Amino acid sequence: MGVCGKEFYPTDRGVRFPKIGELKLKWSRPLPSPPTSVTLVKECSGRYYASFVVEVKEVKLPWTPKEVGLDLGLASLAVGSDGEKIAPPKFLRSALRTIGRLQGSLSRKAKGSSNRQKARLLVARAQEKVANQRLDLFHKLSTKYIRENQTVALEDLNVSGMLKNRRLAKSISDSGWRMFKTLLEYKAVLYGREVVVVSRWEPTSQRCSSCGHRDGKKPLSIRRWTCSACGAAHDRDINAAKISSPSDRRRG
Ligand SMILES: [Zn+2]
Repeated sequence: MGVCGKEFYPTDRGVRFPKIGELKLKWSRPLPSPPTSVTLVKECSGRYYASFVVEVKEVKLPWTPKEVGLDLGLASLAVGSDGEKIAPPKFLRSALRTIGRLQGSLSRKAKGSSNRQKARLLVARAQEKVANQRLDLFHKLSTKYIRENQTVALEDLNVSGMLKNRRLAKSISDSGWRMFKTLLEYKAVLYGREVVVVSRWEPTSQRCSSCGHRDGKKPLSIRRWTCSACGAAHDRDINAAKISSPSDRRRG
């Protein structure tokens, strides 16, 4: 369901709609400015969410030489290139166990029964809860990294070495990675920062794809460089792709 409209009035307890009346809301965070529109969405769990559109002014932060490379996995939520690890929150692990248990219980219920329907609802609620908690955490982390660094390099997804329930872990980390990236990118625009996605296999010391010379170590934020031996100008990603392509590997 989607009620979408511009005729509504935020109140202390929620939002008042014409005809519908006041809907009580549990605010996930305060609105940064008065909303221009609102959408009500019904989730699989049967709960409703109100999603507000607000205009946010860009607040360019002063330039900083700092940069960070982030590796997002489940084993640790984010690992900065400075080695700082953010431990996975306990809620994630315990929530994964809970979801697994509820899914097992769901699979044992007779098809079409009302018990099965109830079990399905419990699974949906548990998944929704962990998604909300994670979103909250990602908001805090993305703000921190964007404020502190001029460039945030995000490594592409690492799904190896995860929990027992691999399919579940993967789906959670896939969507988490995209969500985290989206948050970083929109905050980068707001604050005048930059987000780049780098391949996790990309070496920090680059070999020239023209002459094979091993050029020095480069921070992840350096996207273009010139070979010190032959003078070829390289785009970091294209050069790395050339180096790792099978024909080049045979030659190397
Ligand atoms: Zn070269």
